[in-house]
Amino acid sequence: MSTHQVHQDLSAAVRDVIDFPKPGIVFKDITPILADAGLFREAISLLCATAGGVKIDKVVGIDARGFIFAAAVADRLGAGFVPVRKTGKLPWKTRQTSYALEYGEASVELHEDAVQPGESILLVDDLLATGGTAAAAVKLLEELGANLIGISFLIELAFLHGRSKLIPHSVHSILSY
Ligand code: AMP
Repeated sequence: MSTHQVHQDLSAAVRDVIDFPKPGIVFKDITPILADAGLFREAISLLCATAGGVKIDKVVGIDARGFIFAAAVADRLGAGFVPVRKTGKLPWKTRQTSYALEYGEASVELHEDAVQPGESILLVDDLLATGGTAAAAVKLLEELGANLIGISFLIELAFLHGRSKLIPHSVHSILSY
């Protein structure tokens, strides 16, 4: 199948849910991609390719949908997996940071021994909206001395300009709206 066709099939599978979780938000539901063996595999392949052949030590995924993609990418790349979680979920010593969401405010944290200085990291999430969540994860990774190879999303809502919050890092998205 051509790359163009794969992108079209992935895009067609994303379900727009109007006014979820609150009025005015068009929620991009990726569960139809997850439920389709072929599409899920293609999505993981395309995310893996964003590493550009660089050896990745750890793939960091963001709570919660980011975990699904990041864990599969980590396994495929032969890398470890590290979760960035919503505050209060991680049992060990953490680093924490707060940020603004497209809908609300939140804080995320990371185990402080999850990433060693200089380790090559690929950060993965399902969707880039305002960029607040990813920027928070980047801040934590930078504090730990990570070598951030790239930040990869299945979906980018380009009209929200979230990329601007992630400068100077290398940002990739598979589907852009
Ligand atoms: P942001 O911090 O604004 O970039 O928001 C990114 C996070 O919120 C991602 O982890 C997404 O899972 C979720 N999110 C934000 N907006 C949407 C949307 N329109 N559809 C689906 N998920 C979204």
